[in-house]
Amino acid sequence: MSRMMLADFDRDVGCCSCLGFLRMAGREMDSFTGEHPDFLLDEGYRKRTVFPAKDRAICRDKPVKETAHLTRSEDSDGYKMVNEYVRQGTIGRGSYGKVVLYRSINDGMQYAIKAFYKSRLSKVRVSSSETAMTDVHREVSIMKLLEHPNIINLVEVIDDPESDHFYMVLEYVEGKWICDASGACGGIGEYTARRYLRDIIAGLIYLHAHDIVHGDIKPENLLVTRNGTVKIGDFSVSQAFEDGNDELWRSPGTPVFTAPECCIGLSYHGKVADVWALGVTLYCMILGYCPFIGDSLQDTYDKIVDTPLYIPEEVDPELKDLLQGLLSKDPSQRLTLESAAKHPWVIREGGPIPIGSCRCKSESTREEYTSAGAKNDNGT
Ligand code: ADP
Ligand code: MG
Repeated sequence: MSRMMLADFDRDVGCCSCLGFLRMAGREMDSFTGEHPDFLLDEGYRKRTVFPAKDRAICRDKPVKETAHLTRSEDSDGYKMVNEYVRQGTIGRGSYGKVVLYRSINDGMQYAIKAFYKSRLSKVRVSSSETAMTDVHREVSIMKLLEHPNIINLVEVIDDPESDHFYMVLEYVEGKWICDASGACGGIGEYTARRYLRDIIAGLIYLHAHDIVHGDIKPENLLVTRNGTVKIGDFSVSQAFEDGNDELWRSPGTPVFTAPECCIGLSYHGKVADVWALGVTLYCMILGYCPFIGDSLQDTYDKIVDTPLYIPEEVDPELKDLLQGLLSKDPSQRLTLESAAKHPWVIREGGPIPIGSCRCKSESTREEYTSAGAKNDNGT
């Protein structure tokens, strides 16, 4: 098995707590230096970068608002405005842009706006034929399809051809990440971890049933609302599939959450790789640190591939069984999402995970979706 050659862009991840969340070095280099490691330009990389087909069923009650005019101004108190949104402060910084909190003067609600510069992103090449702006357009096209209680909702896209600014207006999730990134984290306890895991599984079942692979499941991309619901965000490396074939080449996700089969230079299946990342996330929630972290990027990948999973003695036997199932190094032996949803530890409190009815008009998707989890009251 040929390992990916990582020596050229080795990074120190030794100090990375479970919430260090270093993305694949290639993406970081792209955003911070505008340079790229050679492998990103290989034809093999993102061989299957696919936009959802135009005729793909849209699983939403209300389409995402598309606004092609932009007015940047200030309100009477001097706060910056983007159309009807008044700036309140920065809430996040990602690999390509920043996320800013705004309040709409129309409905008084707060929104998280992900802001990009089109010219800057168009210069960042992520493969031989694509730029970072392609990634943003794909992120938007995927989010436009989706609406689910455990997925962050895209409300509006502001893209004025006369302006260099590009905005994604998202529902604002005011809570914390599922784990707090401050210093040493000691785990969040089984009760909360179970509640969070159930929400993440429900969101992932919905995504996978709609032929979307998330690609970057990790605590930083899982936001908790004030009443404790987890919502999956950040579809910036997600992929859509048209034919049920979720084969991918080289994961652009975050190293410590990367599945073993993605650490070698062969193709892998995106859905089972999401399940691995779910397992790492659960491990972090319970134990407060990631299962496989090395002193360098290569060392991290080596540990993911070779080092047996360590689970402390005191961990509940059913939880241990779940972790071992999610973190099976062999993807063919890994627990499926559907089995995880029915696992005794997962259903110990709350029973089977309720899967609501799907708004999508596609019958096949709806059947797959509803059979994946517990049926709701009216059996749909
Ligand atoms: P990136 O692809 O650059 O990582 P994300 O979508 O993950 O971008 O956003 C970066 C950070 O911004 C997140 O980790 C989170 O802290 C914050 N953030 C993103 N979306 C929201 C939201 N809808 N509500 C609140 N905070 C958000
Ligand atoms: Mg993110």
